[in-house]
Amino acid sequence: MKVFKFGGASVNNVERIQNMASILQSYQQEPLVVIISAMGKTTNALEKVAESFFNGRKEEALQLFDIVKKQHLTTAKYLLVTHFNACLSQLTDFFTEVEWLLHDKPVREYDYYYDQIVCVGELLSTCIISHYLNEVKIKNEWMDVRDILKTDNRFRNANVYWEESSIKVKEAVSTPSLLHITQGFIGCTDENESTTLGREGSDYTAAIFANILDAESLTIWKDVEGVMNADPKQFPEAVVMNELSFEEVIEMAYYGAQVIHPKTIKPLQNKSIPLQVKCFLDPSLSGTTISNKKIKQLPPVIVVKEKQVLMHLRTQDFSFVGEQHISHLYETLSRIGLQPNLVQTGAISIQLCLDDKVEQIDKLAAIAGFTFDVQVEKELVLLTIRHYTKAIQEEKIVGKDVLLLQQTKETLQALFRS
Ligand code: ASP
Ligand code: MG
Repeated sequence: MKVFKFGGASVNNVERIQNMASILQSYQQEPLVVIISAMGKTTNALEKVAESFFNGRKEEALQLFDIVKKQHLTTAKYLLVTHFNACLSQLTDFFTEVEWLLHDKPVREYDYYYDQIVCVGELLSTCIISHYLNEVKIKNEWMDVRDILKTDNRFRNANVYWEESSIKVKEAVSTPSLLHITQGFIGCTDENESTTLGREGSDYTAAIFANILDAESLTIWKDVEGVMNADPKQFPEAVVMNELSFEEVIEMAYYGAQVIHPKTIKPLQNKSIPLQVKCFLDPSLSGTTISNKKIKQLPPVIVVKEKQVLMHLRTQDFSFVGEQHISHLYETLSRIGLQPNLVQTGAISIQLCLDDKVEQIDKLAAIAGFTFDVQVEKELVLLTIRHYTKAIQEEKIVGKDVLLLQQTKETLQALFRS
């Protein structure tokens, strides 16, 4: 059994859906579960619907939803002939579910409505794709993941009930010879309320399925050749890394590389299920395989984080920075929900590099102001290089206006003015 995941970009128009079908065609001999995201930017569009609805702008919400509907209907019309009516009736049910809700007045919390509305993106995309596969004679079974992936009711960031879901997933995929199609990113509570697992959560859904089904591998199909050692838009010399360890990927994600949703790794790593990142534009490319295997030779991995803030805290009475200052500061950070990307402590000062989350930064500066003199500098860039060499260090850092520099044996980080 293999699990595939196709993201929004891989199904964002008619040609891409046809391309996806041709990839699946070549795997028809193997038992396969396919997890799919919403098409293109549908989730963003649905977020706008939820916002308008919640802020009492019902007409606007309905109009915005109408745009989403039309886009999906147009795609379905292009792709389907014999299966169009069956697809239309299923799509109409999903549309009606949302429209009913939009006609009501919000009485519950925002996150609840967000999930009830936003989850439809994945339902629509998978419905069209499943009918299209039938149309081109790729037999498949469409599953509503909300019947099998059970979660708590922490809306917008739901936690999966593993035991319950495990039983249901195994039941649902009890005929493994059949191709199964289902939605990423969404789940359901025991009270039948839809939930979502956090933005970009489809990778995570795919990892959950792979874990439960003891899959031989999970393949994430993307529009890039594989996982690269830097963003090719910023570093034209970037190369694909054919092999990576789970640990390396977690490290890369921590430093800000947008490779794979970090929650994806654990369910795979636990069962030593390799993760493949492959290019849907050219499936013949080997892509990247991520596994428990330790990889010795890696090129320097570069991650750039923009919009960084440097907060410089200095004790007001010239006293040394002690454990009390530090513990109070960390308590405040955790209460506000900020995580520093870099910390440097000196005799009478502490320097923190943080993402520029404006509201939280202002709050932190105000609270720290009781104990410290506070200075804030914005619009900085944090450069992280793993497996750095002397040459790359010179090339990327020398000549820059560096404000903070830290290095361990593996990782070098420099904060500079852009
Ligand atoms: N459609 C969702 C999102 O855009 C989930 C995903 O793409 O993984 O966040
Ligand atoms: Mg996506």
